[in-house]
Amino acid sequence: MSSKASIDYEAVVIGAGVCGIYQIKKLIDLGYSATVLEAEGDLGGTWYMNRYPGARFDSESHTYGYSFSRELLDEWHWKERFSSQPENLRYLNYVADKFDLRKHMQFNCKVDSAHFDEQLDLWNLQIADGRKITTRFLIMGVGLLAAPTYPRYEGMDDFKGDSFHTYHWPHEGIDLKGKKVAVIGTGATGVQVIGAIAPEVGDLTVFQRRPNWVAPLNNGKISEHEMNEIRSRYDEIWETCRRSPGGFEHEPDRRGFYEVSKEERIALWDKLYDEPGFAIWLRNFREIFTDEEANAEISEYVAGRIRERVKDPKVAEKLIPKDHGFGVQRLPMETNYLEAYNQDNVRLVDISETPIDRITTDGLKTSAESFSFDVIVYATGFDAITGSFDRVDIQGLKGGRLRDKWFDGPSTYLGMMVHGFPNFLMPSGPQSGSASTNYPRGIENGVDWCTAFLEHVKAKGYTRVEATEAAEERWTDHVTKMYSTMLMRKAKGWFTGYNSNVEGHEEGRTRYFVYNGGTPKYVKTISEVAGNNYEGVTLTTKGVAENEAAERAS
Ligand code: NAP
Repeated sequence: MSSKASIDYEAVVIGAGVCGIYQIKKLIDLGYSATVLEAEGDLGGTWYMNRYPGARFDSESHTYGYSFSRELLDEWHWKERFSSQPENLRYLNYVADKFDLRKHMQFNCKVDSAHFDEQLDLWNLQIADGRKITTRFLIMGVGLLAAPTYPRYEGMDDFKGDSFHTYHWPHEGIDLKGKKVAVIGTGATGVQVIGAIAPEVGDLTVFQRRPNWVAPLNNGKISEHEMNEIRSRYDEIWETCRRSPGGFEHEPDRRGFYEVSKEERIALWDKLYDEPGFAIWLRNFREIFTDEEANAEISEYVAGRIRERVKDPKVAEKLIPKDHGFGVQRLPMETNYLEAYNQDNVRLVDISETPIDRITTDGLKTSAESFSFDVIVYATGFDAITGSFDRVDIQGLKGGRLRDKWFDGPSTYLGMMVHGFPNFLMPSGPQSGSASTNYPRGIENGVDWCTAFLEHVKAKGYTRVEATEAAEERWTDHVTKMYSTMLMRKAKGWFTGYNSNVEGHEEGRTRYFVYNGGTPKYVKTISEVAGNNYEGVTLTTKGVAENEAAERAS
């Protein structure tokens, strides 16, 4: 192929979710020829797909919205403190329409493969509908939790009723009134859906393997007056989010756990438990994440609240996790979840005692009992973070596959680049600042950095950029070492790369997905890298230059 071969786009973004929407805005502003390729039928990512009852933010709505436009902030009225999926999707559509971004998006456009061409310094994309697209830069906005995983039970296809993963909840809705419903899985999603459907279904049976710690969301409406007050505080709100480790308004209690008396700690927890959102998790003492004793004390406190709220003591005990302490995994926030178990039509089945044997034509069978259902809901989670990357056949230099490179665990530079995969950017990749923080806050940092980087690259005329092996090693080592102080490292959850439904990721080998240094440190580091002329990144015109030289010589 001649080096003068035309390139369709300077940049392609995969995914039209929260990340892709902002990234395309920035690319267009920068004057890049760019497009977004989205596998689904419309924009919205997570908020387009997760339509199960109860799906809502557990970040405060006003800290989840984009911060980049004053006009947006002034115009949008969040109706609830923790807004629900339909409103969130309306919001993302409103943003896209306001900035006329839809014309830069292609829907039903699933990218099957992306192969790097070393002679032309570009990516060849194969689209599922048969088209081929070329781009100089490939930007992954594929989402952290966008590859849903089903259990591997025998007989799943035999079930005659309706069954689906929460991620694939029917877009047209489904009437559950009076129906016999099973929910399998009690993570953040299960906890939301169970609390929401318990009052309307006929019978609800929850199949729980391991309980998760949960805390009340304490949602509420936002009046016009309150929204005006929020608008007047936006500068201060963003400043707090920038300062806090998780990109929230919640900041840790800076007093030492052992500096205050037990009575004072309890008084603080009594207050935080009843506050909205992640207060009990993120306004707490920092030691609860690192110190076994401190963690045991807060765990006992929250266990006490569960015992207070669940009437049947046997059920309450089953809902209290025994294999990990409070807050060391992502904390599910709930509304009416624990109270659902006080209803006569709701039953908890502990499948760690009586495992599910198989799905049958009319329900399922455990080692102890047969059940019949109209609907089975799989709230069984995601092949987190790397799963959405793995679903595209990404091949970099010398045909190296990203899927293979990352199988035992991802390695990245800043969570945004990968050695061996030139011109490949991840504003919210594994080990970046987005994975464990208030997502849009992390996204804006990642997208802003990638955009400034592309501006620099364009100004200098580089055609190939790649993280060095040494820089990637340093970063991955840094991310890995940070786990050593966190109790999280011992928990089996998606923060440590566990997924019982994905071969090889069942358990045992920790995968270091999450940057645990907090937002301020992450932003400082990536800014320094940019300020030092993008140290750790090789910037060249390698493929194109060599190809041109070869053409001249021939
Ligand atoms: P999850 O936390 O991974 O939970 C999956 C659940 O399914 C677990 O209870 C798991 O049990 C169970 N499970 C998986 N495979 C199973 C099997 N084969 N048999 C029986 N049970 C099985 O997934 P998730 O609830 O979808 O949440 C994932 C993440 O999405 C959350 O941590 C959060 O970051 C995000 N999320 C956010 C929101 C929000 O912002 N409001 C809402 C929902 C989700 P084991 O623990 O025993 O494996």
